[in-house]
Amino acid sequence: MSLLLSLKENFAPIAIGSEKAPQNLNELRSRLQDAAQVGRARPDLAYYCHWYAEFLDHLRHQEDLSMLQTRGKPRRMWAEQSLIYLDLTQCLRLHSSQMLGWSQALLQEKSQEFGCLLDELAEALEEMKDWNEGCEARCLNCGWSGQVSTCPHCRFHLLKPVRQYGTQQNSYVRLAPLQANLFQAITSVLEGQCDLLALEVPLELMQSRYQKALEEAEANLHLPLAQQALQSIPRALSGLREISRVFQDFDAQHLEDGWSILFQADQALQSNPASPRRDAGSYCEMIVDQVTLTNE
Ligand SMILES: [Zn+2]
Repeated sequence: MSLLLSLKENFAPIAIGSEKAPQNLNELRSRLQDAAQVGRARPDLAYYCHWYAEFLDHLRHQEDLSMLQTRGKPRRMWAEQSLIYLDLTQCLRLHSSQMLGWSQALLQEKSQEFGCLLDELAEALEEMKDWNEGCEARCLNCGWSGQVSTCPHCRFHLLKPVRQYGTQQNSYVRLAPLQANLFQAITSVLEGQCDLLALEVPLELMQSRYQKALEEAEANLHLPLAQQALQSIPRALSGLREISRVFQDFDAQHLEDGWSILFQADQALQSNPASPRRDAGSYCEMIVDQVTLTNE
């Protein structure tokens, strides 16, 4: 966690005035408490509040880049943590702009507020650290783990969490309805909204549709589209097999890895410069399902 590392390292501002600058957020908290106790804040403290507000804002943006690629519980944890950062930043900005005019009572109230937010942040960072470091199978909905295969609360299969995320979310590719259904099912499983078994039907439908598309391509070898399909569809099928491995060892990493393979197989075809736009369109048609299957 780059954020956690950043917080542990020394990023203190350059001292202004005669006193040493607070070296970290805990030192800043002590300075604010001291100011509240004497009922007066020094101008350099207002500057340090401003410095740390900007620092926290920068860290939050930096962390957003990687955390927005996660799914499921880490994403939810980040959503909560991100709110704490926003509150902290807002709190420090208020300190920096107004604290010199605050009464002792207000200084005490605001310094206490900052302290509480800092405690919340420490807890949130610890929770994230525990989650990231663990690879024990767990319920992706409530986080429960134990020696049985399903969560006693949610009745979901316990899964080993995803440890490594792909980068496909930074790219765009048009999803045919069957792919979209599978993607939705994977996301729902990873976010703990439904059980692993929800993947069975979309997976089977995708497998049989790709298989049929492969047969169609083999029967139409004279078309340039067929040549591309003969390269992409087997790769897509291997992605689907990778996803299916989750039923053997209950490791959610297969969902992430399999989707990545599948996604890249389709993306390669759609971004191939030799492939005229209409071909990419007709390829999509080849794998578009013919009937409504979503709720069947
Ligand atoms: Zn559960």
